[in-house]
Amino acid sequence: MKASTPALCATLMLAPLVLSGCGAVAPTTLNAAKPSAPKAHRSAVNPKETAPTSVPDPKPTAGNELGVVPILEYHNIGPTEGRWQRTPRGLTADLTWLYEHNFALVTMQQYESGDMNIPAGKHPAVLTFDDGDYSQFQWTSAHIPTPTSAVGVLEAFAAAHPDFHVTATFFLNANPFGSDSVAKMQWLVAHGFELGNHTYTHANINSLNAQGIEKEIGEEETYIEHAVPGYVPVSFALPYGGLPQDAADRTAVLDGTYQGTSWHFLGVALVGANPAASPFSRAFSISVPRIQVCDPSLVAASTRYYILSGYESEFAKNPAMLYTSSGSAKWISFPAAQAGQLNPAYSARADALTEAASAAK
Ligand SMILES: [Zn+2]
Repeated sequence: MKASTPALCATLMLAPLVLSGCGAVAPTTLNAAKPSAPKAHRSAVNPKETAPTSVPDPKPTAGNELGVVPILEYHNIGPTEGRWQRTPRGLTADLTWLYEHNFALVTMQQYESGDMNIPAGKHPAVLTFDDGDYSQFQWTSAHIPTPTSAVGVLEAFAAAHPDFHVTATFFLNANPFGSDSVAKMQWLVAHGFELGNHTYTHANINSLNAQGIEKEIGEEETYIEHAVPGYVPVSFALPYGGLPQDAADRTAVLDGTYQGTSWHFLGVALVGANPAASPFSRAFSISVPRIQVCDPSLVAASTRYYILSGYESEFAKNPAMLYTSSGSAKWISFPAAQAGQLNPAYSARADALTEAASAAK
């Protein structure tokens, strides 16, 4: 049985991770980013938002691609707001807020690889849904997502906002969404959503040795790859805890092999609880923090920075803190004063903007 009431899933994790993120808008410096990542499968690319790829690609004169990225974390969708449950109305409100504040949605894979491909001036954001709860994806006999499920809400918002590309990442265990698991997984990939690995049985990998970790992750990786032939999950979310400290256990998580299936994860999503660093920043970590989403009445004021509403006014008041796309797929643009934050692996693509150049835009 999947021990994943979301409350249990997240509560056990909160102490070390959330407290470290509480109130800290700027992410802490951790591991360096990899300079590039292989494309394991087609990414969710919005045909309306094709990045310029022609050569030459002139250096942009605006953008801040070292700013932070909000990665939002959802569990259940239901008729009432809960600490780990959002209503369809609440999810629609979140989408509306993102839309009205100039965000563009990307998948975890796109964020982790730095291949976000969004128009100039837009801020990337990621929607993630954990545990494959049935409430995330119900559909009719004709395979139309029901309006009260997460996918139905996303599809309705996309239909009402054709200038807003809607996508999300679903972190799955075995047999997600209650019924029609395989068909729904195939539908999600066909509609540009990402499927990520969340272990086969929602296991606490910190209670396992390397062999046990590889079994949990490998069985889920194989399950998804068999469900959607040709699809290779590259994003992972940890049930319960952080990455193991032991080197062999960490390798088993990030670059393991199980019964002929190998994986390489671009990132490992955490439960809490602050904006994530730019993938081009020295502060980028393979352990990717996420911002939880729930009605603000359900958290104490002291924990308001665990959840999206705690950041909404800060992002609105200070959009300069956010990653802002330059529109160029080639150059990484940022204010020159922030040049020290650039991961040196990306120095050949650096486009440091002087104040004068930015002002001339
Ligand atoms: Zn979970």
